Amino acid sequence: MSRLWSDLTHTLSPYVPGEQPRIPGLIKLSTNESPLGPSPKALAAIAAQATDDLRLYPDPEATELRKTLAAYHGLDPAQVFVGNGSDEVLAHAFAALLKHDAPLLFPDITYSFYPVYCRLFGIEAETIPLDEAFQVRVADYRRRAGAIILPNPNAPTGVALPLSDIETLLKGHPDAPVVIDEAYVDFGADTAIPLIASHDNLLVVRTFSKSRALAGLRVGYALGHPSIIQALTRVKDSFNSYPLGRPAQASAIASVQDEGYFRETLAAIIATRTRMVEGLTALGFETLPSSANFVFTRHPQHSGAALAAALRERAILVRRWDAPRIGDYLRITVGTEAQTEKLLTALTETIAG
Ligand SMILES: *Cc1c(COP(=O)(O)O)cnc(C)c1O
Repeated sequence: MSRLWSDLTHTLSPYVPGEQPRIPGLIKLSTNESPLGPSPKALAAIAAQATDDLRLYPDPEATELRKTLAAYHGLDPAQVFVGNGSDEVLAHAFAALLKHDAPLLFPDITYSFYPVYCRLFGIEAETIPLDEAFQVRVADYRRRAGAIILPNPNAPTGVALPLSDIETLLKGHPDAPVVIDEAYVDFGADTAIPLIASHDNLLVVRTFSKSRALAGLRVGYALGHPSIIQALTRVKDSFNSYPLGRPAQASAIASVQDEGYFRETLAAIIATRTRMVEGLTALGFETLPSSANFVFTRHPQHSGAALAAALRERAILVRRWDAPRIGDYLRITVGTEAQTEKLLTALTETIAG
């Protein structure tokens, strides 16, 4: 608290990112980063940008990157917006599209940044409970709404929503923006991108941080009808004209162009996820069906707090929330095969002890 703060600052309750502690030999399965590293071509593209040209501002419109993403997804560059990580893209979406007289709807259990943005931008929100299986029930969204936002697959559950349900939401609210946050979609859910052609109220938000292993680069993007993209651009150009530096733009292009590496690393992570779920099930854990690069799991005989503490003693970090309904769940990122074996060994010892 400070007498120098604005009234707004006093009202904020900022997002708390997963910790990044410096423990030697730490196995960090708490922030859904990729264990496999970015495409070597993306790294080479960054190195190639380390020249005297860095004295020049980057392209404020990221034209080449937007063209590359448009071609990749079968869209027009006017349907593509890019920003400094998808968190920034989401922030612009909240400011540009999600504030209306009627409330913004999102699930009671979801990405914890959404309520933070609501405070920052003064948006009234209404949370809609997931069902007992932690699934989104789209029928519950048939109510007055200024806008809707959902991750697909949802975070931190990893549970995916079928495209037919997203279409139901879009049709039920033709005059409200519907934002689908596809941070984890590449790990096994169906993308809503094909629905952009028929629904001008749809915005699909994507990131390079998870499936493309570039969390440190800060690149996110959004896809939608040109008019919804224009709204984001108006906010961006009222905030920061140059959200992506030259290395970020070049590296993101190289990542998209390296489809072989992308597919290979996704397959490896999905295979390790299968192994991890089998191992957890053998130990008596109950794991939600995951379409992401993490699992959401609990043990009927052990509290989430005790399990997380026992893992931490063994230098393995996972994420847990002290929140209603999910306090006994651990969200565990899919790491390398070796990390997964160490995780399962540590849990075996914990449960036996
Ligand atoms: C990780 C994550 C993001 C943010 O990713 P950026 O690193 O900012 O691109 C957005 N939404 C969800 C649901 C996430 O889990």
